[in-house]
Amino acid sequence: MKRIVIKVGSSILTETTNIAKERMLNLVSLIADVRKKYEVILVSSGAVAAGYTALQLDRNIPTSKKVLASVGQPILMSSYKSKFDIFNVNISQILLTEEDFDSRVHTKIVQDIIDRTLKNNILPIVSENDISTTPEQLFGDNDQLSAHVTYFTGSNMLVILSDIDGYYDSNPKDNPKAKIKKIVTEIKKEELEQSHTPNSKFATGGIVTKLKAAQYIMSKNRELFLCSGYDLSSAREFLIECTHNKGTLFTAKKDQRL
Ligand code: ADP
Repeated sequence: MKRIVIKVGSSILTETTNIAKERMLNLVSLIADVRKKYEVILVSSGAVAAGYTALQLDRNIPTSKKVLASVGQPILMSSYKSKFDIFNVNISQILLTEEDFDSRVHTKIVQDIIDRTLKNNILPIVSENDISTTPEQLFGDNDQLSAHVTYFTGSNMLVILSDIDGYYDSNPKDNPKAKIKKIVTEIKKEELEQSHTPNSKFATGGIVTKLKAAQYIMSKNRELFLCSGYDLSSAREFLIECTHNKGTLFTAKKDQRL
């Protein structure tokens, strides 16, 4: 069975002061269906935003952000658990850092844990361990973490569910005439060097970290599909019906599809 990684951003999982329960349930239902076809690893943001639903600390203060993440992890996981229970899917939580990919020994540990988890038919939910770590030990965003997870677990594809429905020729929030790109086979240096533009206050990446993730994935001959996490129809069509209507596919070679 082929393997895929699905990454979901904070803005999809939370709304103002709460977990976005309906959106999370839609995501969980999609994953339950996708699991019939692929082995799935979920990379989930949202711990800090979930923590903020219980405790309104200033997330710009490093220690407060760590406390928010530690408060938010169990909130996020229990919310996932109650929803995955409906579909009889058992979950595990795996917290990683950039250092988990910095040597063969470390990487092998991660690979073995994820392999064993999947073999036991459990859905691994991966997040960056930003609680007991320094910034140097972290990717700083789950886009790049998910790209590394994709490569090192031998997954064929990374699907990023974002607050945006694809990659545009300019920022659609500033330019209403921006056009979506359906297939991207090359990313230019200047695209990777543009300023970071996360859309929500809990988002860390913006489009640049997604492009960096795509660059990494393409260099490893894998594919990345960027689509909306609010409306999951394009992800469902792409993954289950194998049709590409909306969303952007980053692929080094046009003939390589799932
Ligand atoms: P997420 O929460 O899914 O990680 P982010 O807010 O970090 O999402 O990043 C997506 C945002 O990047 C979009 O909402 C948009 O405002 C911004 N953006 C900037 N340039 C582009 C572009 N060329 N195409 C798409 N989105 C862009």
